Amino acid sequence: MVATQVSPALETLAASLRGPIITPSDSGYDEARKVYNGMHDRRPAMVVRCADAGDVIAAVNFAREQGGDLSVRGGSHSAPGFGTNDGGVVIDLSPMKGIRVDPRARTVRAEGGCTWGDFNHATHAFGLATTGGIVSTTGIAGLTLGGGIGYLARGCGLSLDNLLSADVVTADGKFVVASEKENEDLFWALRGGSGNFGVATSLEYRLHPIKDIVAGIFVFPLDRARDVFQFFREYIATAPEEMGGFPAFLIAPPLPFLPEEAHGKTFCAIVACWAGPLDKGEAAMEPIRGVAPRIGEMVAPMPYPAINSLFDALLPPGLQNYWKGSFATELTDGAIDVHLKYGPQIPTMNCAMHVYPINGAPSRVSPGATAYAYRDAKFATVIAGVWPDRADNDKNVKWVRDYYKALEPHSSAGGYINFMDADDQGRIEDNYKGNYDRLVKVKGKYDPGNLFHMNQNIKPKA
Ligand SMILES: Cc1cc2nc3c(=O)[nH]c(=O)nc-3n(C[C@H](O)[C@H](O)[C@H](O)COP(=O)(O)OP(=O)(O)OC[C@H]3O[C@@H](n4cnc5c(N)ncnc54)[C@H](O)[C@@H]3O)c2cc1C
Repeated sequence: MVATQVSPALETLAASLRGPIITPSDSGYDEARKVYNGMHDRRPAMVVRCADAGDVIAAVNFAREQGGDLSVRGGSHSAPGFGTNDGGVVIDLSPMKGIRVDPRARTVRAEGGCTWGDFNHATHAFGLATTGGIVSTTGIAGLTLGGGIGYLARGCGLSLDNLLSADVVTADGKFVVASEKENEDLFWALRGGSGNFGVATSLEYRLHPIKDIVAGIFVFPLDRARDVFQFFREYIATAPEEMGGFPAFLIAPPLPFLPEEAHGKTFCAIVACWAGPLDKGEAAMEPIRGVAPRIGEMVAPMPYPAINSLFDALLPPGLQNYWKGSFATELTDGAIDVHLKYGPQIPTMNCAMHVYPINGAPSRVSPGATAYAYRDAKFATVIAGVWPDRADNDKNVKWVRDYYKALEPHSSAGGYINFMDADDQGRIEDNYKGNYDRLVKVKGKYDPGNLFHMNQNIKPKA
């Protein structure tokens, strides 16, 4: 527990910062301690709102010297609530939103507090984009350092495959650059090892010439779900890599493209995003349209940032979240049987089950090239329990756990760390397969005291 009463160490920290320190005695404390997942109602000793890398260095040094938990927070979307703690220090990067696009080199450098909404807004102005998440409010740093699965992944690679370098404050308070040319071991470990190795104050990415896309959602009746999943499996195996998207189950929201009698009922769907030449978009959608009679569809050309915010309204901050995720090399008939059993039981409108295809560019990277090891996985499944009322916790958590358990025999041993909950820590070795031992060594070099442990934790050797 870090003391919150004014101490010489706290006074020194406060004097060295540009950003504020927010403690329980401050009026903004209740707002500052909130994270996206409303389930984690924690009370840290202080939230340090960092204005720049200098603030991050000071806060890391303070937290190491004081002991106790240290959480690092960008977009604050961690479902396990790693962005907060009880009685420790929170480094909140949300004020750090500087972004500079270099349109000639097709690169961008963005600070660790940026969300994908911030990022896409800046790069779209230049007709450029890179793989990010499917909602705009997720932080770029947490998503990228864990992997980065999104609409553009099949063609452009995971977000971490587009990372060119990162500025990092390590556990000893040093500022280092990690890239293919400098601190290569750290750069390797950051790309999949997430927050285990330091605080990324800024991240530099490769960009791709993607401005407008054709995208949207096709909604099908539940009794055609088997056709939808079997179609998607065959189709995506050879579909052009400009095509991203996923099959899903959903409770229909009251949107005008769906007939009124469908609102509140459960359906299956395919969300699709064509990032190739715009005039080929309609033709690319045709095979999906023909799978089964549609309850409704909403597909149109749009700016790339628009598809990135399509689900934002369904996923506001403050709801209860409990998530699980798995990888699979095949979408087997057995896995489809499981989806057909548990998908239709989706408990609330905010919940989601998506099967993201990650064949294509992510699979062409060798498994040892970055810490992210599952290059053979063709699908990443997320079972995202999201609901408004705490009273429904048991029902929703049970749906996620039962669904995940039933999928286990059809999934790889490890999973995608960004789709896991805190009770998945036991999977850590499986999550990194052949890369785990090397990660432990890099952890021992850069964070031997495990200062950065509020994450899917890679423990240094004792
Ligand atoms: C609504 C929603 C949609 C999502 N969609 C997708 C998706 O489409 N694709 C996908 O791949 N994932 C997705 N995710 C999962 C997401 O990748 C993880 O939740 C990720 O951790 C979020 O990053 P963040 O910065 O927002 O979260 P935070 O809670 O701020 O950070 C999560 C963890 O990442 C690490 N971290 C964050 N910032 C830094 C930094 N600057 N330096 C070092 N470590 C850092 C820390 O360990 C921290 O505890 C989604 C999550 C949510 C809640």
